Amino acid sequence: MDQHNKFSIGYANQLDREDPLKGFRDRFMITDPSLIYLDGNSLGRLPRVTASRLKSVIADEWGDRLIRSWNEGWYEQSSRLGKKIAQIVGAHPDEVIVCDSTSINLYKLVFAALKMRKNRTEIVSDDMNFPSDLYVIQGLIKQFGNQHILRLMKSSDGVNVEMHEMLRIIGKKTALVTLSHVAFKSAYMYDMKAVTDLAHMEGALVIWDLSHSVGAVPIYLRNANVDLAVGCTYKYLNAGPGAPAFLFVRKDLQEQIESPVRGWFGQDDPFKFGMTYKPAAGMKKFLAGSPPLLSQSALEPGLDITIEAGMTAIRKKSTDQTDYLIMLAKEWLVPAGFRLGSPVESQKRGSHVTLKHAEAFRICNALMDREVGEALIIPDFREPNNIRLGVAPLYTTYLDLFLAVKQLKDIVENGWFKRYTKEKMSVT
Ligand SMILES: *Cc1c(COP(=O)(O)O)cnc(C)c1O
Repeated sequence: MDQHNKFSIGYANQLDREDPLKGFRDRFMITDPSLIYLDGNSLGRLPRVTASRLKSVIADEWGDRLIRSWNEGWYEQSSRLGKKIAQIVGAHPDEVIVCDSTSINLYKLVFAALKMRKNRTEIVSDDMNFPSDLYVIQGLIKQFGNQHILRLMKSSDGVNVEMHEMLRIIGKKTALVTLSHVAFKSAYMYDMKAVTDLAHMEGALVIWDLSHSVGAVPIYLRNANVDLAVGCTYKYLNAGPGAPAFLFVRKDLQEQIESPVRGWFGQDDPFKFGMTYKPAAGMKKFLAGSPPLLSQSALEPGLDITIEAGMTAIRKKSTDQTDYLIMLAKEWLVPAGFRLGSPVESQKRGSHVTLKHAEAFRICNALMDREVGEALIIPDFREPNNIRLGVAPLYTTYLDLFLAVKQLKDIVENGWFKRYTKEKMSVT
């Protein structure tokens, strides 16, 4: 029973003791127990198993087995890992494949979608989307000879996009609607099924970018009748820096869809070395060249841990933790000049909480300074005034969140951020 005041450290500790997922934190390499890591939404932690798995891929599969390894699992690995991701995103096993980066996969699917909706001239996204996604679209518009325009749905408050705005922008000219399921700044989460239904009613195709939701939020691609999707694996799936991404194409679209990047790994029978390209059946046509086996091998342990914990339990802890964080922020940070930059309702929110403050950048620098306060805290900063606190339920504790909010309060109330420069490093 709750004997503690909800704003006490005792309560945070109690929530950790009662957490059904608490055992999973030990699956991750935690070299510095005093570090509070709240950036799992940018780069997930290293699963312990990944380190030994990579050692064995290098020593045994590469070092010892050499080229024989292609027939001992390497060749099928992109599809095999795709099957595991399919379990996490509510797809059929043969609807997902692992390859390339999210940006490249988005390029392939936007290209394919525009080809499938030849007589339509508009592409819809929103003004909260990840810039890389917009760059890909802008590039393709140019390559298609400037026949399309990009229309961005506007967020009224920088947090949500309202249904009336979607109804205003999506229409009979729309070839494609492409959005991030969870917005990278505000953590706003779209109702995937409602938006997909709306686009389909107007005859448009939909591509969801799952980068900020996969591994954090249950996703039901089949259930929402989604056409196409891409996603990233180095955030909540803990696959490591630059790990290969994935793409999804609904089964009934797979035959007609074309990849703009033809290569031998996407060929029907690459080892015949035929001189004319014939696309492989199913998702394999989206492969182009040899997969990066070492990075790809680092993906599997993160997927296994996620599947074992289960998306329902992960989501439950995630919303409990972001609700808890918001409760503390309202009590201690809003009075100190912060504003909540994420949806208040948990069903509209992904797994991070954004706090806005005019001095966000310098406050982040103070958080990351070991000399300040009791703990070293890693959040991330997003232009112009956002501090993102990422909750990765597999390893984030309630105590982490309690200490982070407390430290933010101290930094602002005591003006400690004033010691830091406004100059930025190349990666923030
Ligand atoms: C992280 C992220 C990406 C990453 O793209 P890469 O090409 O894999 O670096 C793309 N889109 C969104 C929405 C993201 O959050």
